[in-house]
Amino acid sequence: MPNRERWWDRANCKEEDVELFFEADLLAAPRREARRICEACSVRQACLDEHVDIPFGMYGGLTWTERRVYSETVLGKPVGKWTLFPTGISNRRKK
Ligand code: SF4
Repeated sequence: MPNRERWWDRANCKEEDVELFFEADLLAAPRREARRICEACSVRQACLDEHVDIPFGMYGGLTWTERRVYSETVLGKPVGKWTLFPTGISNRRKK
């Protein structure tokens, strides 16, 4: 089987504390730190595309509230249903 790279293998958050990205919805300091990590991430757009309707946490440099606005204004789509098992979460390790 060929060794195919997945986009999340290149995620900047792979080695970060997962709590940072979930606290980003609620608290200013974690939000700044998570956004800084996301802004430098080479797979940011793929992450945002895949997690645009996840109703918690920061993905692609946007909080849930920001993703709702992005989905409605940029994508022109109403926000979808909740997704219980987003791809990126299982790939983040807690320190
Ligand atoms: S949450 Fe998404 S954009 Fe942010 S660092 Fe992780 S993979 Fe990159």
